[in-house]
Amino acid sequence: MIPTHHPSDDYLIAYAAGSLEEPLSLVVATHLALCPRCRKEVERLEALGGVLLEDEAAAETATDERALDSVLSRLDAPAPIAPGPIAPGPIATGPIATAPKPRQAAPGDLRVPAPLRDYLGGGLEQLDWKAHKGFDEAELLSDAPGFRTRLMRIKSGTAMPAHTHRGNELTLVLTGGFSDEHGHFLRGDLAEADASVKHQPIADPGEDCICLAVTDAPLRLTGPVGRLLNPFLRI
Ligand SMILES: [Zn+2]
Repeated sequence: MIPTHHPSDDYLIAYAAGSLEEPLSLVVATHLALCPRCRKEVERLEALGGVLLEDEAAAETATDERALDSVLSRLDAPAPIAPGPIAPGPIATGPIATAPKPRQAAPGDLRVPAPLRDYLGGGLEQLDWKAHKGFDEAELLSDAPGFRTRLMRIKSGTAMPAHTHRGNELTLVLTGGFSDEHGHFLRGDLAEADASVKHQPIADPGEDCICLAVTDAPLRLTGPVGRLLNPFLRI
């Protein structure tokens, strides 16, 4: 199953530049583990960032169209491309034994791609799920200021309460699927919603829908590579 809903370019660029904060980086990395298209795009962007860093003159005039052409044409030449951060999906099966924390190889873990799996103390069932009306949630990364990172579990066939967001929300489907006013989302699909979006996700019948959801602060690119890539946001 190949995802059809992807992170916007801004997120991929910021990820390639290494300037995404941990919760956002986690959700993008987990999508990449399931999405060959975005892995390829991140490799391209990492190569572009590398070229820009090597050539400060090109970076200074990066908004100049000719400079942009020149940089892009150099990308066609064979260049060292940073290896993708994630092993090819759809399900990463890295050696669990070498992970920093001891954890059980519960069968349920295989539903969780490696980047996210490293953040779980055990399988999905072992998380500290809190029950709400229509869904359960388990908090992750509670020490990241300005972000809320959660796993959500919506019972199959159930509608979430209609809601809006204070900030942006990225929701990545891990199991099952859901539909809302903006489309149908299945494993690997990433839904983006901002404060203007009011929606009511409804989980598909047949399987509980488990999602990784990160509510973030406004996105901005920081750090040297992020600043260099800013002019390319609209490519
Ligand atoms: Zn993608």
